[in-house]
Amino acid sequence: MTHISLGSTLFTYSLLDEDGSIQQIFNNDGQVVNLPPLGHFYTLSNTTTLNVKERFIPFAEKYFLGDLDDFNVDDNVFMKDEIKAILTKHLSTGELLVSTNNPKYIKAFILMYMVYIKEDISHKLPDQLIFDHMDTKIGYAVSIESMLLNNTIGTKDNLLDLIYASGLVLKDNDYKKLRITTQGERILPAIQKSLKLELPLKSYFLLCQLHEDYVQLSLHQVVTASTSEEKEQESIIVQDEIVAIPNIYDSLCESMWYNLVQNSSLIELCEMHNTSDKSKILDLFSSKTKKEFFIILGVHISDNVLQNNPGAQSKSDTYVVKLNNSCNCKVHFTTADIIDISCTPVLQDIACTLYGSLLNKELFGNYMNIDYLFSFIRFSSNPQLQYAFSRILEEEADDFNLELGIDTCCLLVPELFSQLIQPVIAQRPLCYKDFKIGALQQVSISKFETMNYLEDNETLNRGDNIYQHFSDTCLYLEYAFKNQDVDVPSAQIPEMKT
Ligand SMILES: [Zn+2]
Repeated sequence: MTHISLGSTLFTYSLLDEDGSIQQIFNNDGQVVNLPPLGHFYTLSNTTTLNVKERFIPFAEKYFLGDLDDFNVDDNVFMKDEIKAILTKHLSTGELLVSTNNPKYIKAFILMYMVYIKEDISHKLPDQLIFDHMDTKIGYAVSIESMLLNNTIGTKDNLLDLIYASGLVLKDNDYKKLRITTQGERILPAIQKSLKLELPLKSYFLLCQLHEDYVQLSLHQVVTASTSEEKEQESIIVQDEIVAIPNIYDSLCESMWYNLVQNSSLIELCEMHNTSDKSKILDLFSSKTKKEFFIILGVHISDNVLQNNPGAQSKSDTYVVKLNNSCNCKVHFTTADIIDISCTPVLQDIACTLYGSLLNKELFGNYMNIDYLFSFIRFSSNPQLQYAFSRILEEEADDFNLELGIDTCCLLVPELFSQLIQPVIAQRPLCYKDFKIGALQQVSISKFETMNYLEDNETLNRGDNIYQHFSDTCLYLEYAFKNQDVDVPSAQIPEMKT
């Protein structure tokens, strides 16, 4: 399984039993060694910009811009070395960087990134999982952050083409299967397990992922019931929205700064400023100091507060950071101070955006029965803050519901997203069903009627909507119809192992 987001690229591989349970996990940490996340290279704002070493441009021109069907890296040592130099050597080595908005380079860079992952993985796989080992059944599950996909190569199909071209997965091989999901799709079973919930059939829930500068709001509808044999339910996304928010680091620093200006009790003044001269004190809160403090505090929050540091200080230990770069004034605070002063107002603002979307007719205001709103904090990897964050968000939800007479139950999923998608021994991986019986998709009635005779696909009829697990046979059939070619392959699709 590969999980690609702006902040991290993780890769895990596991061996499954006959029934799909994980028997063995080969790497626990999930890190792809030495590979910086794509967020180091892309800036996504109104337009997408690729920031990369200058040597990438002629390299891409020569190797990555041709027909994907002819693309091949296999024995090209120069290419492999060059890819490594562009991706893994630190960006601040003094080498010239270029920024480009050109879609062809933006796409070529993703292809190069996938080639690196393929090369990196192939050195680490145990013998029985080597790519060209023909009769080992391997399922490749790739999950990607929607924001990243939408703003670089656009669609899952484009990513599929790039992954096949990279050689990571062999195309047209019944033993190797590739499934691409966006992060948050197929997550319902993990949420159910975490929160011990059964959801009513046909009910809706809103999944909110809180990132550093945006929230992703995905409205899901529950399409399978929980039964005694099958507790896990399935859902499909009916509406997906990305809403920009002010950068979380800026907001956290802004709140702390505003507090310091009002109340300087956290500041230990230096000799120069420790005076009764009011103008000197006022001078301390200059825009220059503010700018410097934002950088100092931002780094501190990123390294010490939102990071998962097993050896980190406890909530009551005091941190000391400089107020600016030009004098010796210092700010003393604890993690509890950061939560109270910075996190609380910032999360309250975000909560307004989330809960407000339930009323906003342009977002989800037209849906009556949204039973649950589940949130994931994606901007923090520190599990110790989850409790404080959930308290803030849930208190805000109570006020909101009371005030507006809404009865959507708003919960922060207690685990971090990365913990929830981690493989667990003796449990099925989240994407297992996708490989076993195909991905759940909504189909139109006319298409359904023509495909109805395919017996190996479980069909779920829900009033006007028909959902079907698309196995590869079905996908092929759909493709064949589009191309006026009605030959249906009769070969059995082998059961997959991830
Ligand atoms: Zn000072």
